Amino acid sequence: MKNIAIYPGSFDPITNGHIDLIHRASKLFDKVIVGITQNIKKPSFLSIEDRINAANIVLSDIENTEVQQFDNLLVDFVYQQNAHVILRGLRAVSDFEYEFQLSGMNKRLRPDIETLFMTPSEQYANISSSLVREILVLGGDISAFVPESVEKLLKSYIKN
Ligand code: ADP
Repeated sequence: MKNIAIYPGSFDPITNGHIDLIHRASKLFDKVIVGITQNIKKPSFLSIEDRINAANIVLSDIENTEVQQFDNLLVDFVYQQNAHVILRGLRAVSDFEYEFQLSGMNKRLRPDIETLFMTPSEQYANISSSLVREILVLGGDISAFVPESVEKLLKSYIKN
């Protein structure tokens, strides 16, 4: 049986923090599937197609990773992919409360699926997609937080 982990999120945009976590997880699992979803609680900045393309480009050098869109319940998507692990990142105490609740609810829905948390590498601990978007819109330099291809994509949204 292959050991598959699903790393779900909105990835709006994928950042160096996400990429570092995926790199590290790819050494622990046979396959890491990055599941990109519309977040029903907030409108996205980038289109889902562009978020998927951006992730595919920046993850192309990690062989055992793939990117997929999902629009259904996370635990159902995990099950469909023959996976048993949901991966989430825990950056700060502020992430904890929401993540704790989410993993508890997912456990109630499908007790055989485990949520595993990874902490970021130190240099990525403060990066979040929302702050990257905010800095971008205010004209700041985001080059330390996202790969060049993602920076270009984000800037094209500002021009249009
Ligand atoms: P969501 O909209 O579900 O919060 P995100 O795309 O913002 O999705 O994040 C996906 C996952 O990656 C979440 O578990 C989040 O905590 C984690 N994450 C976000 N940024 C980082 C980072 N810099 N380092 C490690 N994990 C991160």
